[in-house]
Amino acid sequence: MIVVDGIQKHFGGFRAIDGASFEIAEGSITGLIGPNGAGKSTLFNVIAGLLKPTAGRVLMDGEDITGLPPHSLFRRGLLRTFQVAHEFGSMTVKENLMMVPGDQIGETLWNTWTHRKAIARQEQALSDKADEVLDFLTISHLANQRASDISGGQKKLLELGRTLMVDAKVVFLDEVGAGVNRTLLNTLADAIIRLNKTRNYTFCVIEHDMDFIAQLCDPVIVMAAGKVLAEGPPDHIMENEAVIEAYLGTGQKNLPKGRE
Ligand code: ADP
Ligand code: MG
Repeated sequence: MIVVDGIQKHFGGFRAIDGASFEIAEGSITGLIGPNGAGKSTLFNVIAGLLKPTAGRVLMDGEDITGLPPHSLFRRGLLRTFQVAHEFGSMTVKENLMMVPGDQIGETLWNTWTHRKAIARQEQALSDKADEVLDFLTISHLANQRASDISGGQKKLLELGRTLMVDAKVVFLDEVGAGVNRTLLNTLADAIIRLNKTRNYTFCVIEHDMDFIAQLCDPVIVMAAGKVLAEGPPDHIMENEAVIEAYLGTGQKNLPKGRE
């Protein structure tokens, strides 16, 4: 579904991504791991159209999508989750979901006067859709809470929920599990698996929690110093000497499972 082909991203003379190539198969939950500074988030930003690569291409279903702006990628079903923006904190959880589809009518005064009924119908459809998403994520009880008042983990579910308001095909999750408690992490993992199985969502997941990665992802791609170091099923990856070396080399504690 996605082909990352020889991507480079330089910041000045620094090669944050130094020739990364891999594929994300349709229907997979692909993990992307690696020590801090490996270039994972930068790569997501290149794929999602927030950063232009210095070199290389990104393909989606065989089509070159390199450098397309986020909104046109969004329309193609390629989504990257974002933190709930500060300015939306005073809106309710449900209102945050209802904000998502961008091309609804009713945005101009003209439409407001001439298409009132159509707008009302559309609002109702959006509201129903938001209710369905809240139910899917088991957070219906939060519908009318201010987004700024929910917990960090619940915000992560809301971020995932926003991708459910549109017909996403491939969703990029950057450390959605960071700072999330075990129970909510399981809810999140469960939602990802259900979306993958029942709605055919493809995922690419950056995460430090190795249990989370092992539970969800196959294959797992390992990046270090801007390059792809290894790729394979999670159990192989966690035994891979080069991978262990890469983590040890940075003195980080988040070693693959069983090696700490
Ligand atoms: P990861 O997500 O794997 O932890 P990042 O992609 O965030 O790594 O960062 C990779 C490297 O690129 C880091 O050394 C970081 O400091 C650097 N970097 C990221 N964004 C920029 C930027 N806008 N300008 C300069 N350097 C950057
Ligand atoms: Mg990062």
